[in-house]
Amino acid sequence: MFLKKQEEFNNAMQKYHQNKFYQHVYTFVSVVNIGLEVILLYILFTLNISWFWMLPVFLIAYFSTDFLNGFVHLYMDNNDNYNSFAGVFIARFHLHHKTPTYKNKNVFVIYFNESGSKFWLVPYLIVVLFLSTLDINHIFLTVLILVGILSSFAEVSHYLCHNSKSKIVLFLQKIGLLLSMNHHERHHMEDNNRYAFLNGMSDFILDKIAKIFYGGYKDNLDKHYEMYREEDTSNRSS
Ligand SMILES: [Zn+2]
Ligand SMILES: [Zn+2]
Repeated sequence: MFLKKQEEFNNAMQKYHQNKFYQHVYTFVSVVNIGLEVILLYILFTLNISWFWMLPVFLIAYFSTDFLNGFVHLYMDNNDNYNSFAGVFIARFHLHHKTPTYKNKNVFVIYFNESGSKFWLVPYLIVVLFLSTLDINHIFLTVLILVGILSSFAEVSHYLCHNSKSKIVLFLQKIGLLLSMNHHERHHMEDNNRYAFLNGMSDFILDKIAKIFYGGYKDNLDKHYEMYREEDTSNRSS
């Protein structure tokens, strides 16, 4: 039943392994995303919003980041267009279900590497940078910039959820700032839920969207890599 999709998946991954171009694309996207984030961080410090707005702005940005990144995750987990021009990247994305645990690396390396798979973040950050040149509301602009920067940070939160047992990380997970395994494990154990990965606070909405629009991955897309045997050169541990 899944034979055709398994073949398409393997072909896409074969392209990835045979052509270094794809790895260079990830590196390029990382450099662009982080470069834009650094520029926006500098702009953020020039905005001078009042103390009164700082906490609400941070909470709105945190929730929006959790939702936006979770939504992209939801879309990608249910995307099987392996023959499309982005097919190689789509196929490789699904490997996070095959091997959820990462290779242990410095969090800055994770931040750099994982920012490279965030293709959608490039146009987002460019638009925000453009908006920063216009005379728009500073509170709104602060939210937009924070969402951009926190989107890369969300990848680190997901990494820490799978790979870290440090006391400070467990504390930050306990107070709800980072994604806890207690909350996230259902994404890997069960089907079609818990897509958010900054701290999981928007999952109550994402779960509903998933239920209405998507059929899940366990008996569907997760079967596509069953015949994939090549060595995984990604950041995941084997
Ligand atoms: Zn997933
Ligand atoms: Zn995970």
